[in-house]
Amino acid sequence: MDEGVGLAVCTFKNNQNSDNFLFKLNIYNSVFQAELAAIQHAANWAASNNHKINIFTDSLSFIMALKSAHSRSQFVNTTKQILSTARDLVGLSWVKAHVGIPGNEWADQHAKLAISVGEELEITAPRSYLNRKIKSYILHNWLTYWNNYNSASGIRVLKKSDVKSGFINDIKSNVFRALGSVGLSWVKAHAGIPGNELADQFAKSAITEGNFLDIPAPYSFLKKYIKNIILSDWQQHWGESDTGVRVREYVPFVDFNLLTRNRYLLFFISGHGPFPAYLFRFKILNSPNCICGGLVDPDHFVFDCPHTKDFHLTCPAGIFKPDWFSSVLKDVGSLRRLQEICVISNRICNELKSLN
Ligand SMILES: [Zn+2]
Repeated sequence: MDEGVGLAVCTFKNNQNSDNFLFKLNIYNSVFQAELAAIQHAANWAASNNHKINIFTDSLSFIMALKSAHSRSQFVNTTKQILSTARDLVGLSWVKAHVGIPGNEWADQHAKLAISVGEELEITAPRSYLNRKIKSYILHNWLTYWNNYNSASGIRVLKKSDVKSGFINDIKSNVFRALGSVGLSWVKAHAGIPGNELADQFAKSAITEGNFLDIPAPYSFLKKYIKNIILSDWQQHWGESDTGVRVREYVPFVDFNLLTRNRYLLFFISGHGPFPAYLFRFKILNSPNCICGGLVDPDHFVFDCPHTKDFHLTCPAGIFKPDWFSSVLKDVGSLRRLQEICVISNRICNELKSLN
């Protein structure tokens, strides 16, 4: 949507509208994310006010996501977790969209209003948005590159080629045409064959003195070129974004080699995982403290907590965090320790939950 996504959570008591919460999302957020955020907000509101509520949603995709066992999306999983924690207070009903249910119509109107007056709500862009953005970036740069390249014959050859490289096909057809007058023999490089040595010497001087010859860039160059564009765009996005302060201490520069799917490492560097401080933020726990008394961010479990001491990693000083991250990323033993730590911290969170 061009003007962004708005969301409204409207509460009714005895059919009377009591509260309206209006939020405005970023331009890249999806309608589905807005639906999830609204449901999260409503469930948290019920939990913190200890009110029993019934949520009427017209989002079929949310009901589907709720039914599926695992979702790739962290945001979907967090919503499910919040709902399951507040399950005694929150009922969920699906209603057909725009069938004149008064509360629903009311919320729709307020969602529109939220686009202009809502409080800003920061939700990470959905994967689909990122994929679309990268794809259009590649296409755009490829097109620019292609349009700037001006050898018409090269393009024609490339278009018809069976082999990926038009240049090679070109050479093949030239050699084929001259069959009979051109023989081709392979010689070992630098083996002292006089003609070859002479050609090598001329090749060196051609770098400074030769006529310019336009040959299409090889695929490897194009791939490298596009990869560099993605990297620099990614770095720029990373450098300008003001979220993920903790992650940036560990990964200040973007790098394809630093991508990881290891969920425990992601829990650790993002802080979004089974840690009391995080669950406290979402009102799932009443306190951000560990059972040992320490204030619990991920560092506590990985470096300090007596309950996880068998698996502690060495704590890096500030400037060594990037080195620490890239070595842990490649070290199976350290990743295994992180996993054990997350199992224990999850157990501690459950223990704390039962004390709530
Ligand atoms: Zn502890």
